[in-house]
Amino acid sequence: MLAGGMGGARFLLGVKAALGLPAVGTGDDQAPSEHEITAVVNTGDDIWLHGLRICPDLDTCMYTLGGGVDAERGWGRAGETWVVTAELASYGADPDWFGLGDRDLATHLVRTRMLRAGYPLSAVTAALCDRWRPGVRLLPATDDRCETHVVVTEALVGRETPGRRAMHFQEWWVRHRATLPASEFVPVGADDAEPAAGVREAIARADAVLLAPSNPVVSIGGVLAVPGIRRALRGAPARVIGLSPIIGGRAVRGMAEACLATIGVPCQACAVAGHYGARRAGGILDGWLVHTGDGATVPGVQVREVPLLMTDVAATAAMARAALELAGLGSTPQ
Ligand code: GDP
Ligand code: CA
Repeated sequence: MLAGGMGGARFLLGVKAALGLPAVGTGDDQAPSEHEITAVVNTGDDIWLHGLRICPDLDTCMYTLGGGVDAERGWGRAGETWVVTAELASYGADPDWFGLGDRDLATHLVRTRMLRAGYPLSAVTAALCDRWRPGVRLLPATDDRCETHVVVTEALVGRETPGRRAMHFQEWWVRHRATLPASEFVPVGADDAEPAAGVREAIARADAVLLAPSNPVVSIGGVLAVPGIRRALRGAPARVIGLSPIIGGRAVRGMAEACLATIGVPCQACAVAGHYGARRAGGILDGWLVHTGDGATVPGVQVREVPLLMTDVAATAAMARAALELAGLGSTPQ
């Protein structure tokens, strides 16, 4: 599965349940499951802050599947406190627009220390998952640095002529709440980024490849920005099935609309499938699930309508079963 943060993590809970695994945590070690789930998680949102490496989407997946997430927010740690962020503010330390919880900081400290010791992010993630036991293998899309930047088109303060400048995706998304007019997302470093250890093999060995209902532009798009991953998907023996994050012309949660507008793709389920493209026409999709009523034809892609609201694990598991069926895997355990 290809995944972003919240949409990806929630969908993973449903995929696990559809395969008879407990949604949160690992199964019974005495009766190991015959199923294996690998999530290739977006690293385009990753950023260095205060000398620490932050991987928001990997952490959202890890905390959600490991039972440590703040359920109300959908990201970060349950029972979080914000003492360090308040202390940093007292120093006037920049940037002041990205809050790092105290519990969460421990994750970033361990990760940064291991990265500095020379371990690749994939190995660091595996080590962090020893604690959280998410029950799926979480792989970063790449072990290389490849971060999404946004080209904004606002008039620059203090300059007479309007200009263009680029900022890290997090600054555009978190600080400016995706409100600054933008013209482009640039995956800085993508040309030289290789899929992380294990990614190519997971795609080549998969019985089904699923695209979570994650942000198509900056989450799934961030994964697809790694050229070797797009190539691996194009050559995958399994069918590639996507689930629409857009329902009734709107993003279910969050600000994906602003991302689609920036790249000129209409905020419609089937327009997103057209953006991914059919595998037989140079794209990556064989099948596409849309919410009931959102159906339309997408050349070369098998479209099916099913309820796509992840209201609870049972509803999400039904989505996963529909995706696996469209992938040709027939019925899976209830
Ligand atoms: P982020 O990295 O935390 O922003 O999360 P993702 O990119 O993984 O997921 C965000 C996307 O999930 C948004 O574009 C939402 O439209 C989509 N989403 C959230 N909840 C649902 C849901 O219940 N159903 C569907 N189909 N999409 C959803
Ligand atoms: Ca994200």
